[in-house]
Formats: sequence, structure tokens, C-alpha cells
Amino acid sequence: AIGKTRTTEKADRATVEQAIDPRTRMVLFKMLNRGVFNDINGCISTGKEANVYHATKSDDQELAIKIYKTSVLVFKYVQLSLGFSPSIYSVTCLAKMLVADQRTFMNSEMFRYGYCKHNPRKMVKTWAEKEMRNLMRLRAAGIRCPAPLLLRLHVLVMEFIGKAGWAAPRLKDADLSHDKLRKAMSSSLPETLCCLLFFVPDDYGNANIISKMQASAWRSQRGHLYIIDVSQAVDLDHPHALDFLREDCIHVSDFFRKHGIAAMTIRELFDFIVDPTIDDDSVDSYLEEAQRKIMARGDVISAEEEIADSVFVQSYIPKTLDHVKNAEEDVQRIISGKDTGDMYYQTITGLKKALSMSNSSQPENEQHPCNGK
Ligand code: ADP
Repeated sequence: AIGKTRTTEKADRATVEQAIDPRTRMVLFKMLNRGVFNDINGCISTGKEANVYHATKSDDQELAIKIYKTSVLVFKYVQLSLGFSPSIYSVTCLAKMLVADQRTFMNSEMFRYGYCKHNPRKMVKTWAEKEMRNLMRLRAAGIRCPAPLLLRLHVLVMEFIGKAGWAAPRLKDADLSHDKLRKAMSSSLPETLCCLLFFVPDDYGNANIISKMQASAWRSQRGHLYIIDVSQAVDLDHPHALDFLREDCIHVSDFFRKHGIAAMTIRELFDFIVDPTIDDDSVDSYLEEAQRKIMARGDVISAEEEIADSVFVQSYIPKTLDHVKNAEEDVQRIISGKDTGDMYYQTITGLKKALSMSNSSQPENEQHPCNGK
């Protein structure tokens, strides 16, 4: 059987064929005939949901071939579509489902792709299509990720992130210097996270995307971070999109703190990402300001901020004003200058900025895709 290959190990040439079923083999064979690649060199990774192989073209261009597996995906697909694990399919889960906004649920992927629920082959193809589409959207938004090259059924050929058969290390394994990590935190990471919300519209209207990712999904190469494995990214209209995003912020923030890098708090990171008033022109000054704040705070986050963060992590965040109970009361609170630090939806709805603008009679800001619904 294929040995579990560590990312740092060179592709194991002897074990290429065994995990490949006849159908997949046919797809690969056709690709080979068409010159998509000339050699499959070995397995880079045998994951639960996919195997990734290293391939080369005659001009030595390196490629990664991701082949999705059916078994685990079925479970995972349902789990992600619903936002919870089907193994704990219980009254609580059903309640959660009912609470989720009906319309957004109807728009959710489970509903859209529901037709192929019972056909693992179709589902696995859908999964691969989703990754391909997400990679294209990421690239269109200027975010570093493997360039998707070709998709046939459940086989996705993409750019190889690495060199000479060695995949670039995961961020958490990369052993980057303190300086490089600091640089990553202050530029690439928040920017990339932010771009995830400023996505080009997809075929379902102006839906955005939030990647359910972990620090380990970032790869360092040539001083850059790449995001890989975006098949699990969800549209912003997914009922749990903000929860996923907040989870990502926790991972990112934890990762940097563990490495002794002063970073944005979870709330700051989240607010930065969802703030509809930050655009290409203002992002640099916003980040500079954030950096100043971080420097002033030093490497230790105060107990108060720590507590504020943990409360934030457990709170419900309305996505639009439609989901707010007493919006008018809250507006009064903001206008009267009271402490509204616990009002988590201020940033995402653009309310904070809108109110400060109406006071200073500045022009209305453009509507942001996340609060337009
Ligand atoms: P899974 O969903 O099975 O975890 P991933 O997309 O995360 O699949 O890929 C698993 C591993 O395969 C990664 O950790 C990485 O080592 C390798 N890998 C995947 N895509 C690429 C790529 N484009 N370039 C280099 N290595 C890759």
C-alpha cells in the first residue's frame, strides 16, 4: 500500500499506480496522450479526501494532480453543506437548520447540488469542480494559490507549489524566521483573508466566498504564502459562513501568537476582513494603523482583550441589519457615543462608518457585497 508520504519527502516513485482505479487511470491516460503531462512521478500526499501526485511535462514544468476520493467526501459533503456533522444528526441539528435563514439555506450548496447527493461519483466531481472554481476566483482576486490547469471528472491538474519534486512546506512546518513570520502576519495573511471576501462575483450572483482554512493550509515558497486546498470554501450566503470565517481568524491569530508574534486580536482580524469600507485605496493605511496598534500593545495581549476576544468567539454575529433585533436602539447607542464594543455587527454591516459619515457629511460609501442582501 502507499506509505503516508510526508510533505518533506521526495515523491515515492514506486507507489504511483496502486491507488488509482480504472476510471481514474483512463482519465490520466487520456491526459498523458494529450500531452497535459509526460510523467507522473509519485505521490505527494495520500489524504483522506484526495491523493495528490507530482507530474512533469517534457519541458520540466512541474504539476500537481489532485485525485478526489469518493468515500470520505460523501460524509464531508453533507457535513459541510449542513454546517454540522451528519453523525450527530439530532434534534439540535434540525433546530439549527430551521433557525438558519430560510432563503440563505435554499441558496446553500446542499440545495444547489442536492441532486447528486446519492451519487458519489457525481458528488466527487462536483467537489473537484468546486475546488477548480475557487482556485480561479482566488487568482482573479490576485491571491497566491496553485493555478488550476485542467479538470476532468474528479481529477484536477494544477500548478505545483514547490521545487524539483519537493512540495513547499506547510506554514506551520516551514520553520520561518521571526522576521518572516512577522512580515507574513502584517501583510500577506490579513490581505489574503480579506480578499476572500472581496471576491469577483460567481455564477450565482454576487456571492462571496470564505475559505474554511487552517494555518496549515498556507504554504511558504519564495517568501510568499500560498493557499491550497480550497475545495471547502463556502459562499458568504452559507448560513455558517461567518462562523467559519471566525474560526479561521482564531487559527490565524493562535498560530502567530504561539510563535511569539504580536498579532491582531481575533476580533480585529475579523473586523478587518469584513469591513465594507476598506477598499484598495484605504487598505494600506488601515494596515499601518493596525500595525501601530499592535506595536504599541507589544507582544502580550492584555487580559481584558483576551476576555473580549473569548466573548466575541462565542457570540452570534448578525450578517445584515435584518438579523438585528433592536437596530434602532443600537443606532441610538452609537450616536450618543456610548460604549458599543459589544455590538459585533457594526463593522460588517457598515453601520459604524455610515453613522460617522452622516455626521461629517461625506459621500455615501459604495455598497459592499456582504451587506447588500
Ligand atoms: P487534502 O484535501 O487531501 O488534504 P490537499 O489539497 O490539502 O488535499 O493536499 C494535500 C497535500 O498535497 C498538501 O499538504 C501538499 O503537500 C500537497 N499538495 C496539494 N496541492 C499541491 C500543489 N499544488 N503543489 C504542491 N503540493 C501540493
